Amino acid sequence: MSLSFCSLASGSSGNCQYVESQTTRLLVDAGMSGKYIKSSLESIDVNIASINGILLTHEHADHISGLGVLMRRYKIPLHVTHKTWEAVRLKVGEVDETLLFRYEDMDDITIGDIRIRGTRITHDAVDPLCYTFEHGGSKVGIATDLGAISDEVVERFKDCDLLMIESNHDIEMLKVGPYPLYLKRRILSEFGHLSNEDAGYIAKEIIQFGRAKNILLAHLSKENNFPDLAYETVRGILENEDILVGRDINLDLTYRDKVGKLYRIKKG
Ligand SMILES: [Zn+2]
Ligand SMILES: [Zn+2]
Repeated sequence: MSLSFCSLASGSSGNCQYVESQTTRLLVDAGMSGKYIKSSLESIDVNIASINGILLTHEHADHISGLGVLMRRYKIPLHVTHKTWEAVRLKVGEVDETLLFRYEDMDDITIGDIRIRGTRITHDAVDPLCYTFEHGGSKVGIATDLGAISDEVVERFKDCDLLMIESNHDIEMLKVGPYPLYLKRRILSEFGHLSNEDAGYIAKEIIQFGRAKNILLAHLSKENNFPDLAYETVRGILENEDILVGRDINLDLTYRDKVGKLYRIKKG
């Protein structure tokens, strides 16, 4: 029994994550070109035609730009809330309706042998969600594009073996950086993105529940962050709590333009 996870791409230029059990293969978001997603899956020995379903976190372009191609060319089903589908439908072009599975919420659904729980988050999108995936006692969580951390998110994620969490920006870099004021305000608001400090805080909370083994930092801003800065900020917050990277937790990055490490979580 195992659950695998690999970040194919993460960042404001595109997002696509891969989750796999023995029999079921899923993508979370399809925000890179069909060509990139196909070749990055091949790099971890996965045929794109074998993907069983796509889930969406929300309708922003960096999460859906390859969706139409994947549905038309590879006939991959889409699992989505009604509201997000309404926001996405005009952007993806013509798709086969039989590939569409729409839900009021995605609080508890099963695809193949993976249990999926979607949790509502705050972001400037119509119905944004983060997700946990469970199979055979293993649990993976993905939370990006959220402006604030609710108790509900911590509750849903606290028993994850692997958590991919947004570490979008360094607050000082954002404040002095090139973005217009309205955009800075949006990013810093509860409908924006989590900072490196936020990521460190939620990582600490989750690790202290005692189950998490892997924390992956995600959706790093190109303009308002550096990979080393995100990593060191989170590491510093954890070490202040006597949580040592390497000893107590594996801390890793995900990348805007390349495939991250493939993780296999085995139980039993
Ligand atoms: Zn995004
Ligand atoms: Zn977004």
